[in-house]
Amino acid sequence: MTIQKVAVIGAGTMGNGIAQTCASAGLSVTMIDISDAALERGLQTLASNLERLVKKERLSATERDATLGRIRTSTDYASLADADLVIEAATENLELKRRILAQIDAQVTANALIATNTSSISITELAGSVRGPERFIGLHFFNPVPVMTLVEVIRGLQTSDATHALALEFAEHIGKTAISVSNGPGFVVNRLLIPMINEAVFVLQEGVASAADIDTGMRLGCNHPIGPLALADLIGLDTTLAIMQVLNDGFADPKYRPAPLLREMVAAGRLGRKSGRGFFDY
Ligand code: NAD
Repeated sequence: MTIQKVAVIGAGTMGNGIAQTCASAGLSVTMIDISDAALERGLQTLASNLERLVKKERLSATERDATLGRIRTSTDYASLADADLVIEAATENLELKRRILAQIDAQVTANALIATNTSSISITELAGSVRGPERFIGLHFFNPVPVMTLVEVIRGLQTSDATHALALEFAEHIGKTAISVSNGPGFVVNRLLIPMINEAVFVLQEGVASAADIDTGMRLGCNHPIGPLALADLIGLDTTLAIMQVLNDGFADPKYRPAPLLREMVAAGRLGRKSGRGFFDY
């Protein structure tokens, strides 16, 4: 594979998972964040994930050390100079991502691919922040990255066939299954998943069934591993609402109207697991 050196921007939930996955596949990884403290936290999470695999005897101590040995950290974007692929996985904010992409663009070679892990921002729009939009693509990983095997490979309007082919090859190399997606609000998975969750909130709000029964219905009737309301609590109700709003704004179609109860829950600070209370108590 032509991609050997990967840089990941952001050492948070997704960034350290992407870094771990790439390093486990034998690639050299540079993880960049704004502070040493953020890098230290990301590296610690990553190291304890690997440690868990060693305890379960799914990874040897030698492999763990070799994986960690392939990861460097830095707060300096100048360390992107030798990257074949840079994956932006920083905080979800359009202005911030525009700024970061311009910083990446100023450092990388003309052949490097630049990717974003954004969940909701247009790939075509973000591509406008780099000089070679044909080398820009969406690589949408799922949380937790080392466990979830899907990657949505999202083409912006300007993404070239060569970039798309290389991104697919990269996804396969790191052990993921890729699906090819054209740019559009919510891509594929969130466009299907989040409206289903939103509909579950309507069902609850209308008193059709209790939260527990709605979830049992979807678990036992559709074989879903987790019910839609418990899943909303896991994702975070604020994040769920934000994605619903992206769909609503992007399509301007009333079928994507966020459920009023979802708005109420977020306004009340009942955000799900992270706040201790959502549709269920934690
Ligand atoms: P997070 O808050 O856990 O991590 C974001 C990291 O970005 C932080 O460590 C922060 O310090 C860093 N950062 C901020 N500004 C930076 C800069 N200028 N340079 C370098 N680093 C910077 O967020 P996350 O959940 O990892 O999400 C990251 C991206 O992944 C977002 O675009 C999000 O939409 C997307 N995403 C998240 C999930 C999920 O389930 N969490 C799933 C798929 C995609």
